[in-house]
Amino acid sequence: MSDGERRDMGSKLSFGRGRPGRTAVTLPDCDVPLAEMPSPSLLRDDLPLPEMSQPEIVRYFTNLACLNYSVDTGFYPLGSCSMKYNPKLHEDLARLSGFAQVHPLQPIETVQGALALMHELQGFLAEITGMHAVSLAPAAGAHGELTSILTVRAYLEHRGESRHKVLVPDSAHGTNLATVSTAGFQCLPIASDARGNTDLAALAEALDEDVAALMLTLPNTLGLFDQNIVQIAQMVHETGAQLYCDGANLNALLGQVKIGDLGFDVVQMNLHKTFSTPHGGGGPGAGPVAVKAHLAPFLPSPFVGQAANGAYVFEEPEHSIGKVGAFHGNFGIMVRAYAYIRSLGAPGLREVSENAVLNANYLLACLREAYDLPYERRCLHEVVFSGSRQRAKGVHTSDVAKRLIDYGFHPPTVYFPLIVDEALMIEPTETESKETLDAFCEAMLVIAREAEEEPELLRSAPHDAPLRRLDEAAAARHPVLRWQREDQA
Ligand SMILES: *Cc1c(COP(=O)(O)O)cnc(C)c1O
Repeated sequence: MSDGERRDMGSKLSFGRGRPGRTAVTLPDCDVPLAEMPSPSLLRDDLPLPEMSQPEIVRYFTNLACLNYSVDTGFYPLGSCSMKYNPKLHEDLARLSGFAQVHPLQPIETVQGALALMHELQGFLAEITGMHAVSLAPAAGAHGELTSILTVRAYLEHRGESRHKVLVPDSAHGTNLATVSTAGFQCLPIASDARGNTDLAALAEALDEDVAALMLTLPNTLGLFDQNIVQIAQMVHETGAQLYCDGANLNALLGQVKIGDLGFDVVQMNLHKTFSTPHGGGGPGAGPVAVKAHLAPFLPSPFVGQAANGAYVFEEPEHSIGKVGAFHGNFGIMVRAYAYIRSLGAPGLREVSENAVLNANYLLACLREAYDLPYERRCLHEVVFSGSRQRAKGVHTSDVAKRLIDYGFHPPTVYFPLIVDEALMIEPTETESKETLDAFCEAMLVIAREAEEEPELLRSAPHDAPLRRLDEAAAARHPVLRWQREDQA
């Protein structure tokens, strides 16, 4: 596509392209008697649909699709999102008709293969996390968080305890705070110390018999492993509270350390991040929850168990919090995760985390001269820089991000975590080659130079995109969700 065409794609919807009388398909004459519609109100002939020929509509949507930036088209270092490459093998397996066509209301004896897969996946995830039991029910990371905290709440209530506070370090993922309030708890932030760990003095101060749990993101959103985790677990348990791990970014830890061994009672995972499912744009995900034995009776239903005769069955944990969604969770995501785990095996999973951490530290080493590094230590799966040096030249982190688009890269996560000024949160993932990382670093270094010498170039970026700077705040506050004909606008 030429630049002009690209811009045209962004500016003109299909509605503005139709010509009266054009059609994409011509239907044969009807050869049966016409029947009345049950309700004529169902028929509307005043819909302002565009009238286009088939080649026009095919080209329109194909060209629109070409504007998409995706993991399959380029490097996507969006911090905390694990936008890794997803092997196509898993897509083939998820599309096998025995998996893709299975219906949740089928008689259970006809879906034993699907249940065997779920049962085995529960076992794999328990082994990987060092936990006792796994629920596959939650449909996203945040949903897994909520499920975890509701499970903790049910456990505490069962013990006759009414604890109403949940502690969340300021380096936690933002969804943790939403989880706490949705679950009906009071959220208390805990500061981080100068090394990016949870501040132990602040934690000791906050821990009392009203605290139900500490929600710790590990690695935290600074991409750092909390070095005091064993001591933290001890402190939390001494007050009778539960320790929860936001394990969405488990690609940093696979095969290296078990969450359960560190002292956590409950962890949620993001299958769509760590275990290879295409995601982004709100697509389907899965956020399984793994727990120690004392929390297992409170997990949501259904839970896949095995009867004495070997048949797979749905079980209801004894004091289950009930259902957290329709049917049995996002099965297609489970198939992909199962395929990922089986195809890599234990050595392969260990290599995933080794390479994820190696790649992030490679970026750290290549870029630290040009960008400020707020925490002087090795990172795990992602590295967080600060754009404060560039801001002193009048260039903001958002300008750096927009300029990366001109160089053909998806920008990293920006302005998060909140505790880093002008944050640039970069997660390369394990699936990228050294050449790709080098090309990205080169672009970042050129941009750092441009910030010194030609800041205006950055402030007006992107120069080479179908749309330039969008007013993101207005787009969120005043969304235009309904198309209006130009003559009526
Ligand atoms: C992505 C992420 C979440 C939220 O997961 P969703 O599937 O988007 O709901 C929670 N915590 C962390 C650390 C994450 O990276």
